[in-house]
Amino acid sequence: MSGLRELLSFRPGDARLADVDPRSTPGLPGNHVVGDDPKRWSQTRVAAISEELNAYQERLFASAKEGATNRRVLLVLQAMDCGGKDGTVRNVTQGMSPAGMKAVSFGPPDEEERRHDFLWRIRRALPSAGHIGIFNRSHYEDVLIVRVHDLIGEDVWAQRYEQINAFEAEMAADGLTMIKIMLHISKEEQKKRLLARLDDPSKHWKYNPGDLDERARWDDYQRAYDDALNRCSTTAAPWYVVPADRKWYRNWAVATLLRDTFADIDPQYPRPDFDVAAERAKLLAAD
Ligand code: AMP
Ligand code: MG
Repeated sequence: MSGLRELLSFRPGDARLADVDPRSTPGLPGNHVVGDDPKRWSQTRVAAISEELNAYQERLFASAKEGATNRRVLLVLQAMDCGGKDGTVRNVTQGMSPAGMKAVSFGPPDEEERRHDFLWRIRRALPSAGHIGIFNRSHYEDVLIVRVHDLIGEDVWAQRYEQINAFEAEMAADGLTMIKIMLHISKEEQKKRLLARLDDPSKHWKYNPGDLDERARWDDYQRAYDDALNRCSTTAAPWYVVPADRKWYRNWAVATLLRDTFADIDPQYPRPDFDVAAERAKLLAAD
């Protein structure tokens, strides 16, 4: 692991979310590179990284053709309300081929989902070979909101950390590279963004009066996140904490984490299983 991944990976132990300043910009190149307009710099960089991501995506897709590999990539995004999950999805998928990508949002489980184990709907939503999946919320809600709201007993949710680790290790062994990112905003930033939602009629659909109840439980959520990050940051599937008060930094950091992960996978186009020269000669000789 190197570069930004090293800097942003959450090291289990006694690490706390509170140790990460949501306004900080770890790993950002110096002023001589970024200049005095970081938003513009980020836009330009993210556009360039997106080109790289699109090339990787195509190679990933091609490499899994006809079941050659079971390689797939899953970006898991978690955050408090207004943490920027939707904006991040928009940003990192700019220009990706929709055919090789699947973004899934998880809300409260419906009746059928409740009849199954909490990982049932997660397994069904995983990307298939050659695809990139993006989870907007995830199985981690089952140790976050479920715990904060006492939706089920502690005897049940307390076992889920191990179940999650076992599940993620099983998936990693089955070709799935998981990049789990917590977009970490401050309570003040959330207030600003909630206000912006209320002040803009085109954003009312994103607002839910329940958001204020969730906000009132801010500290409980931070504690629940601390435990989830500490207990489920594994070698097979590490957690990254991205300071997210500054959207331009967040976009650059997530795009970079994804790009660096793809660089390790380095998917390759499959070798043609036909004689290229012979096909070419046949084509030229035909009408
Ligand atoms: P949003 O992301 O704003 O559309 O809200 C989705 C809501 O669904 C959030 O309040 C989540 O906490 C909630 N949610 C997601 N997964 C679960 C789950 N497994 N159990 C209960 N609530 C959930
Ligand atoms: Mg919401």
